[in-house]
Amino acid sequence: TGGSDVEIRDGEVETRDGVEIEVAANIGTLDDIDLAVERGADGVGLFRTEFLFLDRESPPDEDEQYEAYLQALEAFDGGRIVVRTLDIGGDKPIPYLDLPDEENPFLGERGIRRSLGPDSDLFETQIRALLRAAGSADGANLSVMLPLVASLEELHEAREVIDDISVDLDAVGIEYEMPEFGIMIETPAAVFMADEFAPHVDFFSIGTNDLAQYVMAAERGNERVSDLGDYRQPAVLRAIAQTVEAADGDDCWVGMCGEMAGDPELTELLVGLGLDELSMSAVTVPHVKAAVTETDTAEAEALAARVRSASTKSEVTEILTESQ
Ligand code: PEP
Ligand code: MG
Repeated sequence: TGGSDVEIRDGEVETRDGVEIEVAANIGTLDDIDLAVERGADGVGLFRTEFLFLDRESPPDEDEQYEAYLQALEAFDGGRIVVRTLDIGGDKPIPYLDLPDEENPFLGERGIRRSLGPDSDLFETQIRALLRAAGSADGANLSVMLPLVASLEELHEAREVIDDISVDLDAVGIEYEMPEFGIMIETPAAVFMADEFAPHVDFFSIGTNDLAQYVMAAERGNERVSDLGDYRQPAVLRAIAQTVEAADGDDCWVGMCGEMAGDPELTELLVGLGLDELSMSAVTVPHVKAAVTETDTAEAEALAARVRSASTKSEVTEILTESQ
C-alpha cells in the first residue's frame, strides 16, 4: 500500500456500471486531514476523536473541540465528515479520565457506555462543539456517530442528549445545525438489532476491527487468535451481509470504517455486499478508488453470493483469490 505508482483521483468514483461509492479516510489527529485531502478522499468516514484527548493533562474544552471539528469540515469542500463521539476504554485508555480497573476492559465500560455514564459531561461538551461547528462551516456536511452501541436504549438516550443540547442552543441563540445521526455496527447485538435501529438513524458504519473481535470472541491484536479474529471468517461476513440487508428499505446508508474497508482486494466483495461508503487509512484511498472503477456491480453481487455461501475461511480466501 501507499505506492507512488497509483493514480490519485479527486472527486467521487463510480463502478463501471455507474454506481457511486463514497471513498473516505479515517483520521485521528488534525495532521491526518492534509494527508486525506492529498490522497483524494471524498471526506472523512471516521474521525477518531479520542486522539484530541491523548497526550495531555485534561480534556480539550468546547471551543478547542469546535475549532478542530470546523477545521475538518472546512478541509473537505462539502464532503461528508463522520465524527465519532469519544470511544474511550477497552484498548484506548486516557490517564486523566480515571478509568475503572476491569478484568475484561473490552467487555466493560467503553465507548457509548462511558458517554452515557461517567463521561456524560464530556459527551455533552463534545455534542455542543459538534452542533456549533456544523452551524459555522459553509456547506458543512457533518455526521455524528456513536461507538459500540448494543441496545436501542443507548441509541435513544444519546439522541435525547443531542436534542436537549439543540434546545439549549436555541434558547440562548447560539448558531448550530443538526448533523446526520448514525451508529457504528461493531457488536453482535447491533447486528441482530440492526433492523430495529435502522428506522432511527441516518446511517450505519460497520467497524470490522471490533465486530470481528466480538463475533469470533477473539481479541483484536492478539496474535495467538488472529486467524480466528479475521474479517474473512464466514461468521463475520454474514454479520456484514445481515447488517446491509437490515438497513434495506429504510433511509439508512451503510458504510464500513474498519480495516477491512481499506483492502483493495476486498473492494469488489464489499460493493457486491451493498456497502455505500468505505472509509480507511488515507494511504489506501487511491487503491480502493481504483478498485471501485474496475468493479461491475452485477459481477460483484455474484461474487458476494458465492462468498456468502462459503462455510470456511479457506473457502472464502479461495473464492477471493480466483476472482482477482
Ligand atoms: C472498528 O472497531 O472497526 C473501528 C473502526 O473502530 P476502532 O478501530 O477505533 O475501534
Ligand atoms: Mg471499534
